Amino acid sequence: MGLTVAIVGSGPGGFYSAAALIKDIPDCKVDVIDRLPTPFGLIRAGVAPDHQSSKKIAKIFERTAQSPQVRFLGNVEVPRDVSIAELRGLYDAVVLATGAPRDRRMGIPGEDLAGVYGSSEFVGWYNAHPDFRELSPDLGTGTAVVIGAGNVALDVARLLAKTGVEVRATDMAHYAADAIDVSPVKDIYVFARRGPLQAAFTHKEVKEFGELENAVTLVDPAVLPGADVALEDKGRGSQEKNVGYLRDYALNKGDEKPVRIHLRFYAMPVEVLGADGKVSAIRMEHTRLDDGGRVVPTGETFEVPCNIVVACIGTQSTPLDNVAYDERNQRFQNQDGKIEDGLYVAGWAKRGPSGTIATNFPDGSQVAEYAKALTPDAFKQGPAGLDQLLSDRKVRVVTFEDWKRIEAAEEAGASHGAPRRKFTTIPEMIRTLG
Ligand code: NAP
Repeated sequence: MGLTVAIVGSGPGGFYSAAALIKDIPDCKVDVIDRLPTPFGLIRAGVAPDHQSSKKIAKIFERTAQSPQVRFLGNVEVPRDVSIAELRGLYDAVVLATGAPRDRRMGIPGEDLAGVYGSSEFVGWYNAHPDFRELSPDLGTGTAVVIGAGNVALDVARLLAKTGVEVRATDMAHYAADAIDVSPVKDIYVFARRGPLQAAFTHKEVKEFGELENAVTLVDPAVLPGADVALEDKGRGSQEKNVGYLRDYALNKGDEKPVRIHLRFYAMPVEVLGADGKVSAIRMEHTRLDDGGRVVPTGETFEVPCNIVVACIGTQSTPLDNVAYDERNQRFQNQDGKIEDGLYVAGWAKRGPSGTIATNFPDGSQVAEYAKALTPDAFKQGPAGLDQLLSDRKVRVVTFEDWKRIEAAEEAGASHGAPRRKFTTIPEMIRTLG
């Protein structure tokens, strides 16, 4: 038997690794394990539901999944169903591609009040991730606050600002589209703690704020750089393009459309205020930047009454089954993707949450480089051993063919121009398989 590899996690980090392994090691066998019955990780549960074109990469991953060298084993949770030690006993190599699913905390008083959400849970909720099906955020409020100036913050603000017709035509969970459709939200504040030149968002996303049916974006012209400031024009991170769109928005008055997105710079959250256990306002503090571009609080605060706060300030990996974890950097301890001989890591679990989907590609190539140097161990049982173990434990494994049946049922249920009506719980998906 050739080399055997188990990959934990079927998002971009996992599938780029599988693709690189079968390309570089023709006789290897790769099992991609996921705790959900659905493959592709953040492509299904993270990418904005109105960005279908970003999901096209799933078709490439699908070709990998359908290779005779690769299997998808969904609905298998590590370590609940099989431990890392067991996988390492069965396979020549194990690759962790478990992403960065846990929300970073703002670290301010009031953060645990009802109505304050992290981006993973809020995005997971509107994308039908089964973990967040029951989140049910109360959108019956006039004002929503989004913290952060990354692309996730812009995704959240944009989707909250969309009309029912706009969101129903997307990949959004039907219950979330219903909630947004009837939501009275009229003012959405997006707070960046630094300035327009330091914003993490990219121009494609900031441009979309100008294309909303019902919402107008407002920017204070005073925070924008003067015409004499040289702006970088580097691909996705183009300051020039970002500032160009922000200058357009600075011309808006606010009464053009019924919903307003207030894009505010130089303000950081200091306290979430509450009444009856629920958020009632957020206290923000104006900031300035020091010579090194670092945030300096000014002591000048202001409050924004609101009933929902979504903190889109980044995420972190979660420790797994005693694998060495780097608490400081919030990811697995690794050297260029190697944790130790036979144990590797790819994607956000290796590098932290940054970049586009394609940024994970080189991680897969690196995993294949390590694997090429390994010699298959004749005593390792590989896929047959895992099948036996999961069967003994009565785990209902969802194969890639099963997933395609789930997907077909979702597509058959589509309406209002949406690509599918997503199942939102694991039992629903398993029931579909009979
Ligand atoms: P991100 O790009 O790292 O942005 C995080 C934002 O949160 C930054 O503006 C950061 O400000 C701010 N922040 C961090 N800690 C904060 C605090 N304590 N208080 C206030 N603000 C704080 O993270 P993300 O938006 O979660 O995105 C993750 C990755 O996915 C990024 O690489 C992103 O580009 C990518 N992504 C891409 C797309 C797309 O291509 N359409 C969509 C979604 C996500 P500072 O800069 O001051 O630290």
